[in-house]
Amino acid sequence: MSVTEPLSAPAATEDRPLVSVRNLVKYFPITGGVFSRVVAHVRAVDGVSFDILRGETLGLVGESGCGKTTAGRVLIRLIEPTSGEVIFDGKPLFQLPARELRALRREMQIIFQDPYASLNPRMTVGDIVGEPLEIHRMGTPREREERVHELLRVVGLSPQHSRRYPHEFSGGQRQRIGIARALALNPKLIVCDEPVSALDVSIQSQVLNLLQELQEEFGLTYLFIAHGLNVVKHVSDRIGVMYLGKIVELTWSEELFAHPLHPYTEALLSAIPTPDPRAKRERIVLVGDVPSPVNPPGGCRFHTRCRYAMDVCRRVEPELVEVSTGHWAACHLRTQPSPEALAAAGL
Ligand code: ATP
Repeated sequence: MSVTEPLSAPAATEDRPLVSVRNLVKYFPITGGVFSRVVAHVRAVDGVSFDILRGETLGLVGESGCGKTTAGRVLIRLIEPTSGEVIFDGKPLFQLPARELRALRREMQIIFQDPYASLNPRMTVGDIVGEPLEIHRMGTPREREERVHELLRVVGLSPQHSRRYPHEFSGGQRQRIGIARALALNPKLIVCDEPVSALDVSIQSQVLNLLQELQEEFGLTYLFIAHGLNVVKHVSDRIGVMYLGKIVELTWSEELFAHPLHPYTEALLSAIPTPDPRAKRERIVLVGDVPSPVNPPGGCRFHTRCRYAMDVCRRVEPELVEVSTGHWAACHLRTQPSPEALAAAGL
């Protein structure tokens, strides 16, 4: 697939997407033996393509280990890709020389899952939030201090908090510190890597609301990573569903909930509790564990757990295809495999 092909819902905006990801691959080597030779690879992200439109929240969901975090980190080049392409605001991220990459880094930030582990306990809140400004040599020390105070106010903390240390704060407040830090350089994109899953349920919605308010105020674009669909439902414009290193479905949030096309999405949706105890919904229990990303099943990776699996699913890998406008799915129930793919599989 070329970068000129849109993998987004058309007509959403005249602008080009902020981010275009094409055939992104990240394999982690596994070494073994006395000589620590590479004996296999964990195929964490195995050829994913999607766009993130300006100002939208793209949710990325899937079970633990399906490659969401790795995709988010490679996408902002926090870790190096194995192959593939990311075009960020018209610039090829993986081909940029160090100086240009450094400048572009300001525009893409990340909020980590664990607000306890992601803040340096030996630094004051002021130093944590101001560190990106210092690294990028922005402003004078006085201007930096003022900016830190402003950022703390923006995330609902007080400038007086800048002299305190992370251990003096609750989980929700710590996540606010992480958000202030991510905002410091006026980024365009923030990768929110499960930003609320380590927080109490009562605090989760406060942090989600804050993220939404900040998005409106600063025109931010989010890639929002989460385990379950119930969290991303309320914050995402579009949602991509990942399974074993691949995107299996991608569409508008309401469309995904109303008309799921992939059996894996169907199963994830069936696991969301409904507030009405009388509303009957079939709970689809996925049998078995997620197969190993070291040696994923041939054909459709989901076939070992799919209740509709056909012969073709075991032998031909389905492509992510636009089944209806803006609704992409990789499933043989929805699209016919090409004659070439069938012939290659001996069908
Ligand atoms: P979770 O929701 O649990 O964070 P995830 O969907 O974000 O899971 P990743 O953390 O991206 O998944 O991991 C995808 C796969 O890559 C997993 O099998 C994981 O064990 C493996 N992996 C991740 N980082 C590394 C690494 N640095 N070295 C080797 N394997 C890794």
